[in-house]
Amino acid sequence: MTRRRSPVGAHTSVAGGLAQALPRAEAIGSEAIQVFVSSPRAWAPPPDDPDGDAAFADSCRLPVFVHAPYLINFGSPSPETLAKSSGCLEFALRRGAAIGAAGVVMHAGSAVLGSGGTPASKGVAGGRAWEDAMAQARECLLPLLDSVPDAPRLLIEPTAGGGGALASDASTLGAYLDVLGRDERIGVCLDTCHMHAAGHDLSTAAGFAGALRAYAKAAGRGAIGLIHVNDSRDPAGSKRDRHESIGRGTIGRDAFAALFSTPAVRGVPLVVETAEADHAADVATLKSLRDTSDLR
Ligand SMILES: [Zn+2]
Repeated sequence: MTRRRSPVGAHTSVAGGLAQALPRAEAIGSEAIQVFVSSPRAWAPPPDDPDGDAAFADSCRLPVFVHAPYLINFGSPSPETLAKSSGCLEFALRRGAAIGAAGVVMHAGSAVLGSGGTPASKGVAGGRAWEDAMAQARECLLPLLDSVPDAPRLLIEPTAGGGGALASDASTLGAYLDVLGRDERIGVCLDTCHMHAAGHDLSTAAGFAGALRAYAKAAGRGAIGLIHVNDSRDPAGSKRDRHESIGRGTIGRDAFAALFSTPAVRGVPLVVETAEADHAADVATLKSLRDTSDLR
């Protein structure tokens, strides 16, 4: 019996058009790919390109994931941010469907005021600001998913924590998914840098594996659809989200082997979100850890 192996790839630039991502992915040996379909730091979507999307879907043989813009926040108290978040996510889901994506990744969001505002809570699951923000997220997200019937699975990405984060560690992730009613259209995208920052120490293989099990348990069976594999510039519990290339951060190369030896995440696609110049080496490192684990 062959064991399901996690495909390994990278978040790939679409500079010059979506079609340009495929040769880039191929050049570094990617087996999975993540792209932006609109600027990650802007609200305004680009014009639709149905022909380009169809051509991409036809020629792409890899599992594809779309990362929605970072600005989206369904926990925001600003009606303007909320309306823009809905439009932005709807666009990502529609484009994701058009290019044949297996999932659309969205950051879990936070219960903070807009830029220049003060934090509305400490991000503790169960606190009043958290509850209000989550009720609002549920009210917006579920009807939005109804409005894009052929949408890829929405993958919630827990963040590094701090600043009123709605989901960061395993327990807040579980509480977040509970509020959303454990909807089958909603899954999870983990990020190893965020997990480490949120307080799960990934710097040993045992710690890494334990954290993967804790998140997988909180997410529920089959819910983890993708893992962003990044080392961290900051120590465990820092609440800081600064990615580092694999083996050059505070997690360290060897601990990443847990990704391939932990049954709870077996077969889940892995993409690095490190510096573009390091993608080829990072993909190769992960494949080599995978090969070693296959031999066991
Ligand atoms: Zn990420």
